[in-house]
Amino acid sequence: MREHIESRMKAYFEVHKHNWEDWRWQLSHSITELSTVESLLDITFDPKERKLMEQTLEKFPLSITPYYLSLIQRDDYANDPIFRQALPSPRELQVQREDLQDPLAEEIDSPVSGVTHRYPDRVLLNVNGTCAMYCRHCTRKRKVGEVDHIPEREELLEGVEYIRRTPAIRDVLLSGGDPFLLPDERLDWILAQISSISHVEVIRIGTRTPVVLPCRITDGLTRILRKYQPIWVNTHFNHPREFTPSSKAAIRKLADGGIPLGNQSVLLAGINDCPRIIKRLVHLLVKNRVRPYYLYQCDLSEGLEHFRTPIGKGIEIMEYLVGHTSGFARPTFVVDAPGGGGKIPLMPNYIISWSGNKVVLRNYEGVITTYQEPANYRTVECNDDCDQCTLPLKLDKAMETQNQGITQLLADYDDTISFTPENNERMKKRDRWGDQES
Ligand SMILES: *Cc1c(COP(=O)(O)O)cnc(C)c1O
Repeated sequence: MREHIESRMKAYFEVHKHNWEDWRWQLSHSITELSTVESLLDITFDPKERKLMEQTLEKFPLSITPYYLSLIQRDDYANDPIFRQALPSPRELQVQREDLQDPLAEEIDSPVSGVTHRYPDRVLLNVNGTCAMYCRHCTRKRKVGEVDHIPEREELLEGVEYIRRTPAIRDVLLSGGDPFLLPDERLDWILAQISSISHVEVIRIGTRTPVVLPCRITDGLTRILRKYQPIWVNTHFNHPREFTPSSKAAIRKLADGGIPLGNQSVLLAGINDCPRIIKRLVHLLVKNRVRPYYLYQCDLSEGLEHFRTPIGKGIEIMEYLVGHTSGFARPTFVVDAPGGGGKIPLMPNYIISWSGNKVVLRNYEGVITTYQEPANYRTVECNDDCDQCTLPLKLDKAMETQNQGITQLLADYDDTISFTPENNERMKKRDRWGDQES
């Protein structure tokens, strides 16, 4: 079936094999109209449905590479996982009360244009506004198609300068948009800029091109990446059907080039919200040398309501993976906290109970077991002075970071005993009573 559509498409575009595998050709022939989809897949949308789909596109535009469109199985296209990720649903127009335009508050945590600095030691650098395919589940949906521009060098240099003058940053994530849509020379230039900063230890690149535009992974691109090791590439496979000879070849090129690979999936209702699908997906990933990294709970972005599952679905999927399959095939299930709190990892509960000397645990089979705590473990009081410590790690002071959050409560040398929310009524009362007394 796939061959059928692909050959039909090749005929439509009158291309030779060579062009089909040219990423610039793919991009310049991206499908942006429903009528082209109908004609290429040889289908006709229901007129009422079609009208609503058109309305959806006025708000959230359409763009699909010929390659990705060719993966749709037309017989049951409405339920097809490729179709659902690429083509609009009228349900995108249903805005819910809880939907947020910028659910992760990325614009608040932005010191300079293009940089999101949320965590102490790493930043997100947006190097490009465009994507090869407009995913219907994009968390930055409000921006899709709106800023299809490549930032100028000057704009990028502002971000680079921010990183240069912030020594706490040791990990830089190139994001966007899709960094791999940049021309090779531009990417080479950005990587050279960032890797010239002495405190940057790793660069990461998030890209969906191996999935939606695999021919982008050329030998030339891989050669550039190799110059700036360590570079980690994170890709975005959501469904086993996205594994094709082309996407596997793209990954193979990166892996053979010595680039460590990870994958971030999004849990999507009606697409991959099934333990079997995810298990098949993670097996395909590790078989192709990609380590499953994150499984994301779908964000509260506008137009994504119909893709959202309960968090419980993600926990259920983790229950099916932990113990049942290889540990390194298991992603971390995370919820990106609305309002910009960052990623929160979630797991089923394995601790059943706890006493002074025993922990009661359960395993994946439901076996309940006990772990006897050591009788003679002496907790060492840490006074935050590694020079006085018997553990032989002599840390450079500059590399240590301030304790925050629960680690601050745990620290022996920190006097903080509790955290109280800012608007706590009880504390306000205390303040008022205190005022009366004085
Ligand atoms: C996800 C994310 C990161 C990277 O987080 P890791 O857990 O280190 O992969 C960094 N900055 C922002 C703003 C993010 O959303």
